[in-house]
Amino acid sequence: MSGDLIEPREQEPNYETGDPVTYAVEGPVAWIMLNRPQYSNAQNSQMTYALDGAFRQAVDDDSVRVIVLGGNGKHFSAGHDVGTPGRDNLVSFDRTGLWPNHTNRPGAEAMYTREHEVYLGMCRRWRDIPKPTIAMVQGACIAGGLALAWICDLIVASDDAFFQDPVNRMGVPGVEYFAHGFELPPRIAKGFLLLGERMPAARAYQFGMINEIVPREALREKVAAMAAELATRPRLGNWLTKQAINHVEDLRGHRTAMDAVFHMHHFAHAQNDLVLDDPLSGLKGQSR
Ligand code: ZN
Repeated sequence: MSGDLIEPREQEPNYETGDPVTYAVEGPVAWIMLNRPQYSNAQNSQMTYALDGAFRQAVDDDSVRVIVLGGNGKHFSAGHDVGTPGRDNLVSFDRTGLWPNHTNRPGAEAMYTREHEVYLGMCRRWRDIPKPTIAMVQGACIAGGLALAWICDLIVASDDAFFQDPVNRMGVPGVEYFAHGFELPPRIAKGFLLLGERMPAARAYQFGMINEIVPREALREKVAAMAAELATRPRLGNWLTKQAINHVEDLRGHRTAMDAVFHMHHFAHAQNDLVLDDPLSGLKGQSR
């Protein structure tokens, strides 16, 4: 019985009127901007699917040689949407991978199915885009925001940027796209995850998690200059070069580690749901 499909739990999406992602091409550079600044660019599914569409558009356009990913407003991204009026995790979108509709799945299977597509599957595809990508990060880059910065080949941050993955407070071992053990040295990754504190851009720069730090007012200019330079390189060379490093990361266990932790992540969601009736909450259950 418990394995049977259930009535789809479709939500009425409460969409904002604007585009959740904006797309503009300037010369050889596509500028893709997260565009829910009123919610610090919290990522709902509407935004995630729009982002996937924007990346597709940039890949299909042969005049685009370099892709920039940024966020409009004060912050790059506050992470996955866990509470705005536009939260739409029970809405079924036209899926990009061969995953089933999650909204008619019972128990833990629903979230497991959805996160395979929107948080793990899409991020992996974006990491493999055959054009160089630059993350342009200002303000907060939290949890799901980290995933979007990390899938890019280069990261340029403003001096007010900070990085944080506080989900241990929810009883969860890091965000779904678990690249922490590759982006950060292991001891720093443990502190980052266990304590969940903000890491200033200057600290991230010390161990090479980001390529450049610039004053906030110079951020766009710096990224534009870097993108213009990359655009002069051979198209295939750019693809092969980024692929070479991604391949080395995969040989070092990037993919298998992420698969393993994704399942711990979902064990934690399921435990929260069983104990607290809420797959996200964890703090309330800390004594149980
Ligand atoms: Zn999750």
